[in-house]
Amino acid sequence: MNEKTRLWLEADRAHCWHPFTDQGAWGAGEPLVLVKGEGVWLEDSEGRRYLDGNSSIWTNIHGHNHPVLNAAVEAQLGEVAHTSFLGYANPRASELAERLVGQFPEGSLERVFFSDDGSTAVEVAVKMAIQYRQQTGEEERTGFLAFADGYHGDTMGAASLGGVKRFFDRFRQFGFPVRHVESVEVLRSLSEEEIAKTAAVVIEPLVQGVNEMRVWPEGMLRELRDWCDTVGVQLICDEVMTGFGRTGTMFACQQEEVVPDYLCLAKGLTGGYLPLAATLTTGKIYEAFLGGPEKVFHYGHSYTANQLGAAVALASLDLLEAEGFLEGVRERAGEMAGLLRELKGACPNVHEVRQRGLIAGVDLREEDGSYFAERGKAGAEVCAKAREFGLLTRPIQDTVVLMPPLVATGEEIGEMVERLERAISGTVERAAAQGR
Ligand SMILES: *Cc1c(COP(=O)(O)O)cnc(C)c1O
Repeated sequence: MNEKTRLWLEADRAHCWHPFTDQGAWGAGEPLVLVKGEGVWLEDSEGRRYLDGNSSIWTNIHGHNHPVLNAAVEAQLGEVAHTSFLGYANPRASELAERLVGQFPEGSLERVFFSDDGSTAVEVAVKMAIQYRQQTGEEERTGFLAFADGYHGDTMGAASLGGVKRFFDRFRQFGFPVRHVESVEVLRSLSEEEIAKTAAVVIEPLVQGVNEMRVWPEGMLRELRDWCDTVGVQLICDEVMTGFGRTGTMFACQQEEVVPDYLCLAKGLTGGYLPLAATLTTGKIYEAFLGGPEKVFHYGHSYTANQLGAAVALASLDLLEAEGFLEGVRERAGEMAGLLRELKGACPNVHEVRQRGLIAGVDLREEDGSYFAERGKAGAEVCAKAREFGLLTRPIQDTVVLMPPLVATGEEIGEMVERLERAISGTVERAAAQGR
């Protein structure tokens, strides 16, 4: 280990606290210090190269160190990095709001509220939904519905919506009450009384990310929208993960021709460069906030509509909208599906592969399909082994996520799958062989 790496890790172990991390185990491990990126590759402080199989926690779209995105940030830096959106407009925010709204049919989503992260994009939608009801004479509609095992972020409001028990149950009593449902069928069975108290329902459209990449049945989102319209409940689509081409279309909700009342965007908004989020909403909802100081939406963050973030988001949209880009994503998603089918055929411990666009979850199980006795161990071991083979990704329990940057070539995806296969056969299968 070189001197710089040693010092960085010493400072990290002494002073940093990582997200979702068992810090004791972290301190005992050998963390990578990532210092460079180029396309789908990352490089650590020891000069080792890795494929970014997790798109740097689901954010990266166009690869790292992209000349067009770099140029956008640099050009903006030459103007100004950040100015307050409280009391001032800024050119990049104006342009970006117009571009985002332009993705949807005219007269549907018309307003953009900027914030910083996926969690805050969801917080904004929740607060808007509550205040909207207060200002339209429906004060009794205070309740929220969400889907079991869903994930919407970690700030208290977003966490209240979250259904992942191991993350959120300890905080449950400190948040607001949310009714979690499994399906649209369950929604249909709710009493009129309960529905009359409901402000909105939130969903991760097409695929629940943190819930081990569970894919919703086709047509479900459409059914949900129809149910919402029938009973007067608003629809919040959390496209923090699925937005910006991930599922093969610009937004996942477009695949079922659904326009939500609130659309939450973050992760891929800046192509994976900078923290910026947006909550889009309709003209009708916006209008309920007009009419004087008592109707003001009291919400905002210091870095709201950050100019650097908006500049790079605009450049990212240019690339996404270039001819053939999304077709290319769909093509490579097809290639990835083929490769993962082969992986499943070759690895008896791969129980199921779920995929939507360039999002995949590879379930590891015992050969007979039962869960491993110690949940999460196989997933962690496979990802640790994959790292040795130069592939970075993360498990969710015993599901290994494969989520390449959208620019990954068929060859690069093939390389990722091959390294994953070697990691699985070098860990789970070897352990199984030794255990028997
Ligand atoms: C990541 C994620 C969030 C939270 O976004 P942050 O930027 O991490 O706060 C919310 N919803 C979904 C669906 C996500 O995948």
